[in-house]
Amino acid sequence: MKPLPNKISLPEDFIVLASDSVGEKHFAAFLREFHSGETVTSIRINPVKYDTSQVGDGVKWCKTGFYLSERPRFTLDPLFHSGAYYVQEASSMFPELVYKTIEMLEPSFWNRSGLKVLDLCAAPGGKSTHLVSLMSENSILVSNEVIKSRATVLADNMAKWGAANVLVSNNDPKDFLVLGNYFNLILVDAPCSGEGMFRKEPESIKEWSPAHVALCAQRQKRILQDIWGSLLPGGYLVYSTCTFNHFENDDNLQYMLTEFGAEVVSADAVVARMAPDAASQPLGGIIKTPEGGYQFIPGLIRGEGQFFAIVRKPGNGDAGRGGRQAGEKSKRRDAKKIFVKDCPYLPAEKYTQLLAGDLVKGYPVPLANEMLYLENCLRVIHSGVAVAVKKGKDYIPHADLALLGCYVQMIKKGCCPFKTVELTRLQALQFLAKEPLLFDGEPAGYLFLTYMGLGLGFVKNLGNRSNNLLPMARRIRMDIKI
Ligand code: SAM
Repeated sequence: MKPLPNKISLPEDFIVLASDSVGEKHFAAFLREFHSGETVTSIRINPVKYDTSQVGDGVKWCKTGFYLSERPRFTLDPLFHSGAYYVQEASSMFPELVYKTIEMLEPSFWNRSGLKVLDLCAAPGGKSTHLVSLMSENSILVSNEVIKSRATVLADNMAKWGAANVLVSNNDPKDFLVLGNYFNLILVDAPCSGEGMFRKEPESIKEWSPAHVALCAQRQKRILQDIWGSLLPGGYLVYSTCTFNHFENDDNLQYMLTEFGAEVVSADAVVARMAPDAASQPLGGIIKTPEGGYQFIPGLIRGEGQFFAIVRKPGNGDAGRGGRQAGEKSKRRDAKKIFVKDCPYLPAEKYTQLLAGDLVKGYPVPLANEMLYLENCLRVIHSGVAVAVKKGKDYIPHADLALLGCYVQMIKKGCCPFKTVELTRLQALQFLAKEPLLFDGEPAGYLFLTYMGLGLGFVKNLGNRSNNLLPMARRIRMDIKI
């Protein structure tokens, strides 16, 4: 079916500013695309949970990104709930370009043990789920969101993705100064005027005005000022927005270069290699901006509008470290740790397990101390993996445990500590909707429910009925008839 042309009109001031910022020819491509009414749907696969070779039409700059021919009802796909993929617009999948660029400059960067990455403006979690898939298991991702309600959604999405080397915090950018210069890489995916998403979210057009752009640019500068001190010398800061205008993009990049002495990092080689076939464009469809940033323009690439730039803090990481040295005691409250030895749901050699209230939490052994230190310094709302709730002598498995990436391997290797029950799609949806399910012929006790081999959650089988352990907040609320 031919898509309906988009009749929504764009503010005149936006047209002038965006065209001036990205160039008339490039902006004309955006306008053609915008008015065509065409939409693009894409997902990014969780490589720990799903095999990318099963999916077809790939996003050029992200090997786990794929376009879909139509937009399905994701809520009715159990794989969506198991964290097999994240629904994400294609241009936002730029972290892989960043990853490859830094890898080219410093081949050992991503593998250094104890690498620390901060995603400062992280909700709902698109780029955090991407970053943690790129990072090694021996590094820590702090995924932060300043707005509490959004931080809760972020924590849920990170739990669903299933990586244990993540902390979700709910802090203001300047709160991170307590750590000194600490992070090897900081992503600032800043709150912005949203121009690049006009096609996908037409209601944001109404909020656009030159005054709003100025306000966003000012706020972005403040965020950059507040967080620059948390970056280690020799570390990288990635700045991004989904806008076209120079106030929010190149001007802020220029600000970091002049005010902080940041050095711009060229991603040319990687960008040109990974988006190779729009030959008429200087960098294969992704435009280089005058200050050295990169601009995605709908019409030139298959995705929405996006800007990103990479800068480096001068100096050497080890020499300049102003924060706490590894092993040093936190200045803040150091809670008494209660180690849990008898909870059998995770391999003890891989996870340190601790009791926090009645919740058993698991931390990857090599990262446990550092993660606990961060818990003491920040307002952390999720970290490691929630394993179980201790009730008397019983450990009630936590819903997040079912989503843990390492469980996929444990099932494959036959060493999952639970009796596993593979569900049909209808049963999976019934479980997710918290409808009653019977497990005739299965043993009494906790059952681990999977769909296509991926964990969905737990029930306690009581024979004539079962208790569904999925949290109410995660249940599907829509009609699941299929
Ligand atoms: N990175 C996210 C992703 O990929 O899913 C999208 C982030 S969105 C563009 C920007 C985020 O910045 C929002 O979640 C917003 O709540 C947050 N934010 C708003 N004001 C902020 C501030 N003053 N400091 C830090 N973050 C802020």
